[in-house]
Amino acid sequence: MQANLLETPIEYLKGVGPKKAEIFKKEFQIFTFQDLLHYYPYRHVDKSQIHTIRSLEAEGAFMQFKGRVTSYEILGERHTKRLVAQFNDGTGTIELVWFNSLKWVENELTQKREFIVFGKPTLFNRRWNMAHPEIIDPEKQSNIGVPMAFQPLYSSSEKAKKSGLDSRAISKLVITLLNQIQIVITERLSEDIIQNYKLLSLKEALLNVHYPASQELLSKAMLRLKFDELFFVQLRLLTQKLVHTQKTSGHLFSVVGDTFNAYYKNYLPFELTDAQKRVIKEIRADVGSGKQMNRLLQGDVGSGKTITALLLMLIAKDNGYQSCIMAPTEILATQHFESITKLLKDMPVKVGFLTGSSKTKARNVLHEELQNGEIDILIGTHALLEDNVIFKNLGLVVIDEQHRFGVEQRAKMWKKNDIPPHILVMTATPIPRTLAMTLYGDLDVSIIDELPKGRKPIVTKHLYEKNRLGMFGFLQKEIAAGRQVFVVYPLIKESEKMDLFDLMAGYDLMADCFPIPQYQIGIVHGKMKADEKDFVMNRFVKKEIQILLSTTVIEVGIDVPNASVMVIENAERFGLSQLHQLRGRVGRGADQSYCLLMTKHELSIESKQRLKAMTETNDGFEIANIDLRLRGPGDLQGTRQSGVLDFKLADLAKDEKLVVFTRNLAKEILEEDPDLQHPKNQSMRQYLGEVMRRYGFFGNIS
Ligand code: ADP
Ligand code: MG
Repeated sequence: MQANLLETPIEYLKGVGPKKAEIFKKEFQIFTFQDLLHYYPYRHVDKSQIHTIRSLEAEGAFMQFKGRVTSYEILGERHTKRLVAQFNDGTGTIELVWFNSLKWVENELTQKREFIVFGKPTLFNRRWNMAHPEIIDPEKQSNIGVPMAFQPLYSSSEKAKKSGLDSRAISKLVITLLNQIQIVITERLSEDIIQNYKLLSLKEALLNVHYPASQELLSKAMLRLKFDELFFVQLRLLTQKLVHTQKTSGHLFSVVGDTFNAYYKNYLPFELTDAQKRVIKEIRADVGSGKQMNRLLQGDVGSGKTITALLLMLIAKDNGYQSCIMAPTEILATQHFESITKLLKDMPVKVGFLTGSSKTKARNVLHEELQNGEIDILIGTHALLEDNVIFKNLGLVVIDEQHRFGVEQRAKMWKKNDIPPHILVMTATPIPRTLAMTLYGDLDVSIIDELPKGRKPIVTKHLYEKNRLGMFGFLQKEIAAGRQVFVVYPLIKESEKMDLFDLMAGYDLMADCFPIPQYQIGIVHGKMKADEKDFVMNRFVKKEIQILLSTTVIEVGIDVPNASVMVIENAERFGLSQLHQLRGRVGRGADQSYCLLMTKHELSIESKQRLKAMTETNDGFEIANIDLRLRGPGDLQGTRQSGVLDFKLADLAKDEKLVVFTRNLAKEILEEDPDLQHPKNQSMRQYLGEVMRRYGFFGNIS
């Protein structure tokens, strides 16, 4: 009964009706009473204080004054017609101006009583004035019993405003709604939690987020609602994880045997970093537990994830299992295959390779070798997911650069055995801690937070058009020294509107300054077919090309240690994580590498901050944190499809403490009462059920 009321179509709220309901749906995705209840104001105007005119200093803020109109006159003709009133509060005078509804205003003003006027004072000809102030009766109260101290502002749209749904109209409807439904707002948190952390009740929070009685209550209301947003996400993710670890047994890798040991002692070409060692330990504990592993491995570009994964695949072999590594593109798969076969050169480990372009004959042989267990490690692309790729005993799946693979594809991998393989998802897109906790809260996370020794930090410089000739001279020097150069552009085709220095124009310019045959220039962009791209890329890898011009298609993973310069054109048009990824294409060899960020002269403040961050740090996690602060989580790679991030109030960048706090709390509660069976947890269980239904209980792999 109660839930039904909240689910009433918005159309039936008094004052809405079918036409406005349409607007609500189309413009704000508000379908039900409940949706409007959770349509929070973006800001409140503080009407709790009355200022004095004498103390006016700066423009820009809305404020109110209490006083009387001493005189007024109507000036101008037709469209310049306006009413100008002198308003005095005993400390000074401010001019009030109205351009319309003059009759009504005049009528109000002639009442000769005390008013509160509310608006944004501006200085004009050294006099303070206020255009279209609101006139308020000092005695006025709102209909929900609290003084209208804080007026809520709701975001609206042009279309909605035309249909009469501006902020003010929405705020009136919210009052109607609150009056009608406040009795059915039921609590979702346990009494314990509310008491212990001195939270507002849900009902108080919802009333106060719209119509706060004071600034303090507004803050408390926001805190309570953020708390709910974050807490229930964590409760959901941790419940999923719990179900998963309880119900899913995994292959037991109980030993570290000859393959691993022989390789580690005799062939490992370098000392592992401490971070790599730590991660291997973490993963060994997982795969030795008898539970199925679902782990995210984060590590900045160049941190050495591949060798880490390889060592784990050797442990799999020692325990009689096959493994595979799946890369998002053919080029990356090829690189993995080449580097892994090279690393394993004298080891008795058989490595297979499978991509979309593998020939039928080779495929058939491969299929057989997979099924009879001859192949220990299979490397490839999406082609590994095909149904006819059948393993004898798949124990470990490594997925490189996870954001290119969808959830279903991973689930497919998972089904290749009766007992699902351990899954290690690797990503070089650093994800800030709070985001990882929220987005991958049902996965375990390992982090390689250290680069191999001896890497020279990439020198990053921000250059302008006027530096271009100098920059070209620098490229010529690097190429003369045997190095190669990437140049990346944001667009493929010229866009007249945005005046971009695009790939084709860039090519013409480069071709003039770097003439054939002394220089070979290649182009790669997203509109090319995969094999055309691969052809050009391979020429670059083989050093037949010195300069590779491309769009962002080269962003992920490619390893050309001889390339020492990354030029990014129109760098202001790229996101921070993307810039960092691009930069990670160089600095992979022993030589000093450079990242040159070219931009136009005038830049927005945000662009400047981004470029500054790039020139100041090479640390991917620091970059990710700055990115999260600047842009919010929705823009970070791989997060768009998630559905866990549509918070209304919580902000993963600003509310880090609350994210960690709610996660720990959810953990504690589930440790004590995994199924939320305890009577005190009833309300939480019920709401969690609702949340689960809303989001769907998506697969066991994330
Ligand atoms: P990513 O984490 O970006 O995938 P890779 O696995 O491609 O990085 O490693 C980058 C380079 O660093 C490779 O050439 C690899 O051989 C090398 N490398 C990895 N670990 C170490 C280490 N501990 N010491 C020295 N070089 C290493
Ligand atoms: Mg890699």
